[in-house]
Amino acid sequence: MVSLGDYQNKRSFDKTPEPMGSTLRSGLNRFVVQEHHASSRHFDFRLELPAEVGGLNWVLKSWAVPKGVPTEVGVKRLAIEVEDHPVDYIDFEGEIPEGQYGAGRVAIFDSGTFALLKRDAKEVEVILDGTILKGRYVLIHTGFDKGKGWLIFKAKDKE
Ligand code: MN
Repeated sequence: MVSLGDYQNKRSFDKTPEPMGSTLRSGLNRFVVQEHHASSRHFDFRLELPAEVGGLNWVLKSWAVPKGVPTEVGVKRLAIEVEDHPVDYIDFEGEIPEGQYGAGRVAIFDSGTFALLKRDAKEVEVILDGTILKGRYVLIHTGFDKGKGWLIFKAKDKE
């Protein structure tokens, strides 16, 4: 189980501009996709949800998507589950300094809100309402990549 402890343990908050973290929810179901120019460029897809189903600690459940969240139906992309990020990370943009975890520039690619249709250990299904990303998206847990592997794809809208 990933937790905010993992997030905090990886970072030196006197050196990185990233937030230390809050678990207070916004009251909205927000999502963000952050383009992260780390050693290998990727997109971080984050959903504001309780850390555990039914729990009270709100976090950003997070996946690193090397090729980006697809905008078209029929394209499946690898998504690697990463540590929960604090809720206030949702607005973060900036430069993580050289030598720090995830060093490189972070910029918001898209953001908005979502409706949660399904969430369990095997599958997360949402309807995104962003500027770029809109419609029904499904994450399927494949278990590859030491249990961290998921696939993300845009699904056809239900009739
Ligand atoms: Mn990242």
